[in-house]
Amino acid sequence: MKKLFLMLLGFALAVQGLFAADTPSPVKYVFLFIGDGLSLPQRMMTEDYRQIVEGKGLLINSLETQGFSTTFAANQLITDSAASGTAIACGSKTNVGWLGLDAQGNRLESVAAVAKKNGRKVGILSSVSLDHATPAAFYAHNASRGNTYDIALEIFDSGFDLFAGGGFLNADGKNVADAKGNIFDIAKEKGWVVSRTKEEFNNLKPTDKPVLAITPRFSDGFSIPYSIDMNDDDLTLADFTAKAIELLDNDNGFFIMVEGGKIDWMCHANDAATTIHEVIGFDDAVKVAYDFAQKHPDETLIVITGDHETGGLTLGFSGTGYQSYLDRLQHQNISLINFQPIYQKVKDNKEASFDDVKPLVTQYFGLKFDGDDNDNMKLTEYEVEKLKEGFKRSRGEGDYSAAENKSILYGGYDPFLITLLHVLNNKAGIAWTSFAHTAMPVATSAYGKNAEIFGNMSDNTDISKRLKMMVTKLK
Ligand SMILES: [Zn+2]
Repeated sequence: MKKLFLMLLGFALAVQGLFAADTPSPVKYVFLFIGDGLSLPQRMMTEDYRQIVEGKGLLINSLETQGFSTTFAANQLITDSAASGTAIACGSKTNVGWLGLDAQGNRLESVAAVAKKNGRKVGILSSVSLDHATPAAFYAHNASRGNTYDIALEIFDSGFDLFAGGGFLNADGKNVADAKGNIFDIAKEKGWVVSRTKEEFNNLKPTDKPVLAITPRFSDGFSIPYSIDMNDDDLTLADFTAKAIELLDNDNGFFIMVEGGKIDWMCHANDAATTIHEVIGFDDAVKVAYDFAQKHPDETLIVITGDHETGGLTLGFSGTGYQSYLDRLQHQNISLINFQPIYQKVKDNKEASFDDVKPLVTQYFGLKFDGDDNDNMKLTEYEVEKLKEGFKRSRGEGDYSAAENKSILYGGYDPFLITLLHVLNNKAGIAWTSFAHTAMPVATSAYGKNAEIFGNMSDNTDISKRLKMMVTKLK
């Protein structure tokens, strides 16, 4: 660890040297995109999948400026979204779970707050709830990311102009001793414009009042649905990004942070296909900013990073050797989250057997139990045995040997669902080592004015330090 810090100190000094010579000029329109759990394996997996299936790669991978950022927290090598969000937002390392405070508990100022102080409009967007760690790192100050109600209340002290995307984990302040009421009610009382339907969203026009724009349909209770599960009634992260530009464009410029928060969730669950669709949805949102930048070429900066890697994803598996078959993931047409209740019905039915699961596995994941042996989606005997074992364990019937550990094998997830995802993913030539985050550095990409400053090996705190110099008053 000590060595790592010394290494990082070296980077920091190099960066400081760079700035001492030449402080970057302010940029009118600044976008910061954060993919939660988005590191190189997630980007490369999606790139290859998309090249094969759609004949084109990701915009974020094609940008001229590409660098790396280390992600470690103040108190441990593997960070979380709170510590990493704080580093990216405020430019200081902190402890895992902490938001907007340094490791000594001192209050920090985020790049969004600096932008606001300099007369810019500010928008905070996320596909997950707005009190979640990453968006919260831009406006909240709390030693526990779990205090979501108190965190949400800080939205009203932020002075920011737009919060958009998911809802709130604890909008009613349940189990909070001195709760001040429902967050949406408070927003209305304070004069905020609140949109909760697609029609209200489409009707939003630029206004001097602060705006709270929430997804018309929730998944997981409080976030926008997974891209793989979306229908025409939904608003995508790209829709929210386009609306943010429409609402916030003004002579003094803006700072907009957009988080793709659910890449992380599906990497925790080791669901590669859903992850791929989340990364594509995130890339689509970046494309909106990129198209805007074409119209404002000398006035726009877009920075894209991740807060950490999740899942220990790797593009290679012992069973597939040197080959990759990422196109096999296109047969999965549902997220783990939406499949769960479908599977649960069979799991809970005492009369049901493994045979009742088979049609679901084929319908939603494309894996076949019968047919031509040359069909690459046909399950091998070994894979069928794995699925049967997972099903038994899922129903509490399977035995574990002394050396086996449920949490190592399945994390907190259902044994059958994890086995099913692992079987499909391994067939595609990919594998996972964890249900948690890892310490892998992330890729940081940039496009537009001052983009070249981000094209090196740096620390996640450098992103905020650099951006703070660019959200100053326009000359
Ligand atoms: Zn995260």
